[in-house]
Amino acid sequence: MPGYPELDHTNDPAARSWVGTANDGINDFPVQNLPLGIFSAAGLPPRAGMAIGASVLDLVAASDLGLLGDAVPRELLAKAGLNDLFAAGHGAGLRLRHAAFALLEASDTMGAQAHAGAILHDMETVTMHRPVHVGNYTDFYAGIHHAVRAGGLLQPENPLPDNYKWVPIGYHGRASTTRVSGTDVRRPAGQFQPAPGAAPEFGPCRELDLELEMAVYVGRPTEWGRPLGIAEAAEHVAGYGLLNDWSARDIQRWEMKPLGPFLSKNLGTSLSPWVLSPQALAPFRVAMAPRDPADPQPLPYLMSAEDQAKGTFDVALSVQIRTGRMRAAGDAPVTIIRSNMRDLYWTPQQLLAHHTCSGCEMEAGDLIGTGTISGPREDELGSLLELTMNGARPVRLPNGETRSFLADGDEITLKGRCTREGFVPIGFGTCTGTVLPAPVAAAPRTLAGSPA
Ligand code: CA
Repeated sequence: MPGYPELDHTNDPAARSWVGTANDGINDFPVQNLPLGIFSAAGLPPRAGMAIGASVLDLVAASDLGLLGDAVPRELLAKAGLNDLFAAGHGAGLRLRHAAFALLEASDTMGAQAHAGAILHDMETVTMHRPVHVGNYTDFYAGIHHAVRAGGLLQPENPLPDNYKWVPIGYHGRASTTRVSGTDVRRPAGQFQPAPGAAPEFGPCRELDLELEMAVYVGRPTEWGRPLGIAEAAEHVAGYGLLNDWSARDIQRWEMKPLGPFLSKNLGTSLSPWVLSPQALAPFRVAMAPRDPADPQPLPYLMSAEDQAKGTFDVALSVQIRTGRMRAAGDAPVTIIRSNMRDLYWTPQQLLAHHTCSGCEMEAGDLIGTGTISGPREDELGSLLELTMNGARPVRLPNGETRSFLADGDEITLKGRCTREGFVPIGFGTCTGTVLPAPVAAAPRTLAGSPA
């Protein structure tokens, strides 16, 4: 199967669904999208579903009614993670997409609407789960505009390392602390240096931040010891989601030299519940921005003309904040950050080709974070670290509150949306999390705090 799918009938802008909420042009999930996720509902264990308008299509129920034909075996849909379905590769994903499209499309030639009560759930009433069992998580640093700005603030002596334009930089993250959108994240405690040169303290993080990233999910696994060629890497990408890499900047600054981030990055990693397929995103493929003439060309194992021509996507990304005070007052969330996936320095295929060049084995459902995505402009900054210049330039919210870093009670929501003239817009849904206070045991101990 081609790794960069051509447009097919499922991308047809004229297509409509008999599920009315899918057709309003605003909803993220028209019939051209059909992202996969894992949901549970009253009396139903976790299973695969597809978002359609304001509903979730129960793929197991649809399969049981014979509405999916023999697209994929039922057992691949009845699991609590999409790993096995992803392992089956692009061919299986495409058969399932075609079957679901036929089922949901407005002409309803399959008579599926008669079974709506059995196969559709109101999205508001279901519980979403992590889309995959995350066996492995790698976070890259492919956003060059973020690297330049954040590097300047975290390591001013060496903002953009001299390897940056040669090697996709990443680190092995913590799979066990990945969580689905909607799960609250607790402010961590750790060691940090209260001032340059001062002795470190232990206590609740004072500089909690977010990072706006894309999630890339591995599909067909790779063999240990066999690097993926850049030309075949796209066939191993199952799909894309949103990722918030919550980050404790004060802890990070103290701990990261020389081995990179550790506890500052494992307080929680939020994932959007829906995974968009390469076929759904096909209309929004774009070329990589040309490299600055002064930059090196990618080494041959990272270079493919096809990948440079269509290896990334035009995804408009945004971050919204709603503080505890805003929530109490009934204020709507406000957007504080906008950027776009096309501003990454490396394509997802380059990240995969690099990840496997050592012979590293990739498993189905492995999670790859792109790194924080900032753009070149001042209003395209993917983290508070950059937006507030390490706290020196706090963000002012409409209700008068300011933020240098996140406060307890702050709710952060990531969004992603693809639009292109002549196509129906599709979106990624949301990736949300609220900051909970640090654990009580983490509060600094003082004599005054001792029981009387
Ligand atoms: Ca990150």
